[in-house]
Amino acid sequence: MHITCIYTLCKHLYYTLRAYYVMSMPRKKRRDSVDVRLSIEGDLFKRLERLKQYYQIEEYTEMVRFCITDAYKKIEHRPRFEHVNTYDNHVKILDNQMNRIAEVYFKTNDKSWCSLCNSHDCVHIEYAWTLPKIAKILREHGFKSPSEKRSGYE
Ligand SMILES: [Zn+2]
Repeated sequence: MHITCIYTLCKHLYYTLRAYYVMSMPRKKRRDSVDVRLSIEGDLFKRLERLKQYYQIEEYTEMVRFCITDAYKKIEHRPRFEHVNTYDNHVKILDNQMNRIAEVYFKTNDKSWCSLCNSHDCVHIEYAWTLPKIAKILREHGFKSPSEKRSGYE
C-alpha cells in the first residue's frame, strides 16, 4: 500500500476518533483515557482491511492504536515554530507547541507586539528575528533585534 494512502487513512482515523471523542464526552473522570466506539464503512473499511493484512495486525483496536501512533510520529518532530505568512506590519507564526497562531506586529522599535502572548518580549518575537527576510526588512526600517537591545547595542 502506498505511504500516502496509509497517511490519509491515519489522518482520517485520527479526525474520526477526535470527532467522536468531542461528541461523546468521556464518562470516566480520568483524563488519560477514552472509550471509543467507531463504525468504519465502505472504502475506509476496505483500506483498514488492507492495512491489517499489510501489517499483519489481527485486531481492529490494535490497528487503530498503530495508526494513531504512526500519525503522531508525523507531528512529533515538527519544529516548534513555522513562519506562515508576512503582511505589511506583521508576520504570522505557527506555534506547534501551543498549537496556536501568533501574530507579531512591528510598529515602532520598542513596540513589537505579539498577539498570542500579549507581550512586547516573547519567543515569537525572537523567532520572527531569526527569519532572514524579516530581519533584513526590519533592520532597513531601523528596528533592533531583541538580542541587540539586550546587549545595549543601540
Ligand atoms: Zn508571543
